[in-house]
Amino acid sequence: MLDTNTDGVDQRVSTGDLPSWERIDERVLEAYERNVTDEQGLVADYIPELAAADPSQFGVCIADVEGSTHVAGDAEVEFTVQSISKAFVYALVCQEFGHTEVGRLVGVNNTGLAFNSVIAVELNDGHPMNPMVNAGAIATTALMPGATLAEKWENIRTGLSAFAGRQLSMDGEVYRSEAETNTRNEAIAKLLKSYGRIAGDSSGIVDIYTRQCSLRVSARDLAIMGATLADGGVNPVTKQRVISPIVCRDTLAVLATSGLYERSGEWMFEIGLPGKSGVSGGIVTVAPGKGALGTFSPRLDSAGNSVRGQKATAFLSRSLGLNIFASDSEGDRHDV
Ligand code: GLN
Repeated sequence: MLDTNTDGVDQRVSTGDLPSWERIDERVLEAYERNVTDEQGLVADYIPELAAADPSQFGVCIADVEGSTHVAGDAEVEFTVQSISKAFVYALVCQEFGHTEVGRLVGVNNTGLAFNSVIAVELNDGHPMNPMVNAGAIATTALMPGATLAEKWENIRTGLSAFAGRQLSMDGEVYRSEAETNTRNEAIAKLLKSYGRIAGDSSGIVDIYTRQCSLRVSARDLAIMGATLADGGVNPVTKQRVISPIVCRDTLAVLATSGLYERSGEWMFEIGLPGKSGVSGGIVTVAPGKGALGTFSPRLDSAGNSVRGQKATAFLSRSLGLNIFASDSEGDRHDV
């Protein structure tokens, strides 16, 4: 890792404000209405239980750093968090071990390959590369504090619940369905173990990882979880500090490089915000210092990212002036 020690330097944060409450409400509704009839993409079926999802469901929510939420459509419908859990477990592990150590053990570079790639591990001498692909996520879950697997799981469930501001529970059907068909993740974990990248019982770690992916959330929960990352680690609804501002910064940097798997470059180009998707159709997107978006729509593109979620998020990023690379919202001439 690059050595960038800036101890003693006065660090500053610069962000703008969100538009008015009424404008956000209007735009959230418009993001929903523009995309609700879009039927592109396919529901994930490699986890058998996910194939039962209702593809018509579509929810959009924005939560701001004051804790207000703006919703449209099926924003309260629950689905399994899947890969989006990776972002929040990573944040909890960074909080425990710090920037440098987690950067070294798990990495922060994009693989350019699918989220469940085995070859990515082989090509990088067994290094998991980043915490947003399955190899890195399994390695990160292995680092979660807890003397036993049960304690690790409890710390994950409690930690993700603190981000959401309510007790999250696991979907037993989806968990069982994935646990019964999880040979690829088992293989990835064993490969990591063969390289000495994870300690302990690799099957037990995969079990915890599968459980964390099976926690149930809604688009509103995702928005609040994201708004906690936008708010320097304080949940804007419960006011509980979950992680430090530095850990938020580090987590968002990783989402920016790898949150949408091998499509992370296209996502950053179109949307200009750190985000994380999951195969059941959720996406969380964070506008640092302002708030976050949660979307849910089960039809996915070929990389496993929700189609309507990406489109609704692109619309909101542009129409609310959220792109972190835009220096003047008036000058943004995108055709939204
Ligand atoms: N539980 C899923 C898996 O490991 C999560 C993948 C995802 O959401 N991309 O395959």
